Amino acid sequence: MSRPETSHLFYQTRQRRPVLDQARGVYMWDVDGKRYLDGSSGAMVCNIGHSNPRVLEAMRKQMDKSTFGYRLHFETEPAEHLAAKTASLAPEGLDKVFFVSGGSEAVESAIKLARQNAVAIGEAQRTKVISREPSYHGCTLGALALTGYAPLTAPFEPMMRPMPKIPAPRAYLDGLDPEDEATGHHYADMLEERILAEGPETILAFIVEPVGGASTGALVPPRGYMKRIREICSRYGVLLIHDEVMSGGGRTGKFFAAEHWDVDPDILVISKGFAAGYAPLGAMVAHRDIVANVLDAGGFLHGFTYAGNPLACAAGLAVLEEIERENLCANAAATGTLLKGELTKLMERYSIIGDVRGEGLLLAFELVDDRTTMRPLPRELNAFNHLVDIAYDNGLIIYSRRTRGGYCGDHFLIAPPMISTSGHVAEIIDGLDISLRQLLDRISQ
Ligand code: PMP
Repeated sequence: MSRPETSHLFYQTRQRRPVLDQARGVYMWDVDGKRYLDGSSGAMVCNIGHSNPRVLEAMRKQMDKSTFGYRLHFETEPAEHLAAKTASLAPEGLDKVFFVSGGSEAVESAIKLARQNAVAIGEAQRTKVISREPSYHGCTLGALALTGYAPLTAPFEPMMRPMPKIPAPRAYLDGLDPEDEATGHHYADMLEERILAEGPETILAFIVEPVGGASTGALVPPRGYMKRIREICSRYGVLLIHDEVMSGGGRTGKFFAAEHWDVDPDILVISKGFAAGYAPLGAMVAHRDIVANVLDAGGFLHGFTYAGNPLACAAGLAVLEEIERENLCANAAATGTLLKGELTKLMERYSIIGDVRGEGLLLAFELVDDRTTMRPLPRELNAFNHLVDIAYDNGLIIYSRRTRGGYCGDHFLIAPPMISTSGHVAEIIDGLDISLRQLLDRISQ
């Protein structure tokens, strides 16, 4: 099948991309037979690699039985088993699972559950959800209102209720030591200040990505931050929502990233790596007491038609089994350490790399003009787009996010599938090395 001359799809990409033919493991091939290493697992989605035979077999088996059963008409075995498995992986007490088809839907669900809980317990004045700047929580209007990234939110602001934001803890920009607990407390205390300024009785929830994703470029919180955030939320009756849409699913080396700090939220959301690209799937996992409050008060006024469809759930279950069987969280930790070490070596050779960060296989580097000021490269060089295109030409896919406002560099997420080996790490580093050299040649012309 050749592609039509004119595309009738519209996404935000600047240019037409190669046509995908096949994908296996960490590799993808276009219809001309060119091979790419998927250095970002799509958008940090395909965590267990492409075309896993056991997942495909589980999906085939389910397809032969049924592909859709409306959740209010039937219970299905895949949804029940996946909910049980998810609850077993989640923190103590978070054992109620609500399926959705993606990350934004999961975030919307968390906001609405939190709100209905507040109403149910007689705290209806709680309506504000505090989030961070920068952050990304989704593109639907509710989730977008929590997103701290002006280029995406500004056009829609008149249509959304303004929600309070606190700065994400970017110690590397502020010249603070992320290993020092005082740094974590410094940023976490901004939450308490904000809660007090707004009036604690008006705050419904605080939402945080335990390890940042596209917005902050794999930002790992400073020591002491996550624990302090938990304490502050509990002190003021504010629900803590962990957005693990990108960080969940094992990529950071633990199934949920917050396990690194041994901190439990009241509600968490997961999507991308949950069914790892085999089906559109996400989930909100909530503490049983919150769900009981809402159900006792008359039920959860929320739900999506495709939620919990058996084919997506069969895929999700097979993905979780594969992660366990192949010990992929441990592999993400070990391979991530190796890859981060190699990226740090690249930073020694290329002064335009301003920072390397991340946890497990959720890693990023930042391109800057000047490491002391962390100023971005001049816009007119268009280095941001060039690097992505050059890497494509070199058979490497990386995920980029341009930073607007000039307060830090542009960042590139390096997040290959959790099945990656040391050989794949070497390929990624070679691809980046060549691409950075070619970029420098290009921008010095
Ligand atoms: N939250 C986070 C942390 C994300 O990274 C994303 C997607 N990039 C979302 C929410 C929204 O997920 P989706 O695109 O599946 O709606």
